[in-house]
Amino acid sequence: MYSWMHPSLEVRENGTFGKGIYAVSNVPKGECLTIFGGYVMSLKDEERLPGQIVDYAHQISDTHAIGINREEDVQPVDHYNHSCEPNAGFRGQIVLEAMRDIAANEQVTFDYAMTLAEAPGIKLYELACECLTPSCRKVVTDSDWRLPEIQARYLGYFQLYIADKIEKLNS
Ligand SMILES: [Zn+2]
Repeated sequence: MYSWMHPSLEVRENGTFGKGIYAVSNVPKGECLTIFGGYVMSLKDEERLPGQIVDYAHQISDTHAIGINREEDVQPVDHYNHSCEPNAGFRGQIVLEAMRDIAANEQVTFDYAMTLAEAPGIKLYELACECLTPSCRKVVTDSDWRLPEIQARYLGYFQLYIADKIEKLNS
């Protein structure tokens, strides 16, 4: 296991998404939920990962991602799902934090817009979203961080490299 997960969280089966991360008991806003570890790999190498694990790594810069690179290394933290109305966000590059109080039995999610950005030579990411929240964008892509309403909503919770891009874009 390469990552740390808060003891109040666990993996549960979820009809829609296969598996998800759920709170076992209440977790207050600001709590560190996960510290992601793993192999640091280029986005090119990440693209070539087999099967499901291609979706498990987190992009942490314009050129690199962190995560597992072998199916036998799948860890609990690899089962976080996307939501267009998430309750968790990134602090820096590898820390996931509660954006608000999370109640027992709530699923813990983040928005892929917080971690994904287009990179030269890497194929564009597109996810048909079925999170069913009122804010659902239906299609999640790696250019969603450019949307002003997304920038406003997740201020302080983007991957550091995306926060830098936003600052540059808006200065
Ligand atoms: Zn959605």
